[in-house]
Amino acid sequence: MIDVLVTGAAGRMGTEVIRAVTDADGMRIVAAVDPPHAGEPVFDGTGGAIACVADLDSAIADTSPDVLVDFTDPSAVEANLLIALRAGVDCVVGTTGISEDTLGKLVADAPEGTALFVAPNFAIGAVLMMRFAEQAARFMPHAEIVEMHHDRKVDSPSGTALRTAGLIASARHRITESPGRETQLARGARGATVDGVSVHSVRLPGLVAHQEVIFGGQGQTLTIRHDSSDRTSFMPGVLLAIREVGHLSGLILGLENLMGV
Ligand code: NAP
Repeated sequence: MIDVLVTGAAGRMGTEVIRAVTDADGMRIVAAVDPPHAGEPVFDGTGGAIACVADLDSAIADTSPDVLVDFTDPSAVEANLLIALRAGVDCVVGTTGISEDTLGKLVADAPEGTALFVAPNFAIGAVLMMRFAEQAARFMPHAEIVEMHHDRKVDSPSGTALRTAGLIASARHRITESPGRETQLARGARGATVDGVSVHSVRLPGLVAHQEVIFGGQGQTLTIRHDSSDRTSFMPGVLLAIREVGHLSGLILGLENLMGV
């Protein structure tokens, strides 16, 4: 049995994680940490509920979790990981907006054998979309990314868009024209430039998490698109990471490392 502690337990993703872990074989929720929601119940989908607590240190001391799953906020995740990793708890992180450099420093402080697994996107289709984009970039180097998320997302561009841009940049041959060199009549019209790739962020109510990677070539375009229309789309990836993280150590970035793609 894998004992799981969730930080950000009362949030949109945290609530889904509690339901998914409760429903899965071989794992269980032992603590729900969410300081702004301390004392509030999170329903587990079976008619049961777990009350949120405020203090991560005491939750770890009281429940000795095997794995911490963090879906919080860029301003909260670092402190949570510092506490959990120092206590030797393996971590599975979906929170976006934290740099690779910071993650590396956090895991360096952890006892030998502790793992920090971080994925900018736990949806299996999104991992495939990134992999296909990386492959396409070898043949069609001109690419732009349009990522679309719900209007309460706090960071932009999305972690998935940043990762996709990095993969495209490392896979493609150098292109001579850089995007955004034309006159922009409205500032930002050509989006942000990430690793030489234009990235456009759309934030609207009604969206969950969506991304298009558009490649342009002579007389043709290729569009690779992924849509998460429901947050349950992330749960198979999160459960896979919970099951595997105990066999890993150090910093592991991306679900592709567990999928063999
Ligand atoms: P959310 O609904 O705002 O949930 C975050 C929760 O964390 C909220 O309940 C928040 O409380 C709470 N919180 C704030 N500070 C905390 C702390 N120090 N310790 C524990 N909990 C704390 O956000 P969400 O939509 O679930 O998204 C959470 C993160 O996951 C974001 O970074 C998002 O980009 C990312 N995400 C990743 C994936 C992926 O596949 N990797 C997929 C979807 C989302 P308040 O509401 O009171 O602030």
